[in-house]
Amino acid sequence: MRAHREATVDLNAIAGNVEAIRRIAGTTHFMAIAKANGYGHGAAAVANAAIDGGADWLGVVDAAEARVLRDAGIRGPILTWLHGPDETFQAAVELDLEVGVSSLSQLERAAAAGVASVHVKVDTGLGRNGSPPDLWEELFARAHALERSRGPKIRGIFSHLANAGPEADAAQLEEFERAQSAAASLGVQPEFVHIAATEGTLGRPESRYNFVRVGLGCYGLSPFPDIPPSKFGLTPALELSAAVASVKRVGSGSGISYGHNYSTERETTIALVPLGYADGVPRHASNRGPVSINGNNFTVSGVIAMDQFVVDVGDADVAVGDRAILFGNPAHGIPSAQDWASAADTITYEIVARIGARVERRSISGA
Ligand SMILES: *Cc1c(COP(=O)(O)O)cnc(C)c1O
Repeated sequence: MRAHREATVDLNAIAGNVEAIRRIAGTTHFMAIAKANGYGHGAAAVANAAIDGGADWLGVVDAAEARVLRDAGIRGPILTWLHGPDETFQAAVELDLEVGVSSLSQLERAAAAGVASVHVKVDTGLGRNGSPPDLWEELFARAHALERSRGPKIRGIFSHLANAGPEADAAQLEEFERAQSAAASLGVQPEFVHIAATEGTLGRPESRYNFVRVGLGCYGLSPFPDIPPSKFGLTPALELSAAVASVKRVGSGSGISYGHNYSTERETTIALVPLGYADGVPRHASNRGPVSINGNNFTVSGVIAMDQFVVDVGDADVAVGDRAILFGNPAHGIPSAQDWASAADTITYEIVARIGARVERRSISGA
């Protein structure tokens, strides 16, 4: 039985997506990124499916996210990289995590806690996390000194691409090479070198090194708005749907939802879908978001509210309990996450990651 509001997650699709990207990427290590509750898909289920597909690493932002995976019985290496200012890394030790360090302070705290392995993160031009170039030497020198005095092993050196176009990416890769040279000249010899996320992995082979960190692609979505996932052999894993909660016939000129910025043009049937912006349906897609009911595609009518929105279905045969599908695998004739991203002027990442806690996640194993 489908829940009233449901995100149906096809775990075979996730395993298949990991396999497909591994085939494209070649013989690198493969980290499946399961942060943000597995991009809204459910972290533990996703992590297990990714492992089934051949992922040998998992990545989440911090120990709290990693704990969810360990509590679900998942072993194997997990990397975290975005830490609170007071992080002591006790939990990282308790949970046997590898820790990404972006600063001397994080390195010292990780070492003091007894963390076994660190990956040093360098900023090569994203301007976000990671050590800035003027501090690389100090950071690598200290990491090396700690490693030699039985401190954390320097397991990796990593960075993150801004995906700001071919030239900017090339400049970042050059900067990343410079960071690797700086590390090598201080005697640091990390086993893993990584910078590519999904976009780099699929679109920039020279960014793969011996390790890729793939999030979006595991979920069957494409980082390129104009290239569908199917082009890479990827299958969208999540379908967001709800049971139509009410249906009624209204006359011409009926105002619909807050502000009445939709008005019926003739006598028509309106269907109520119990998903709103609290469930992650972007209000910005009001009057634009696509919805499939009984194989017909409609558009949201009026403003998306916190808990619900309305669809003018004309004279189509729609009944209470029929399934309204917002997005899923477009091969099934239904809208895609990209359709919703376009309708809301955003990216597919945000469409799936914001699916709210009220939406029940149900795992299936599709064909
Ligand atoms: C989220 C994240 C990724 C994955 O990015 P995708 O574009 O979803 O593949 C990789 N690395 C880091 C550090 C991240 O924060």
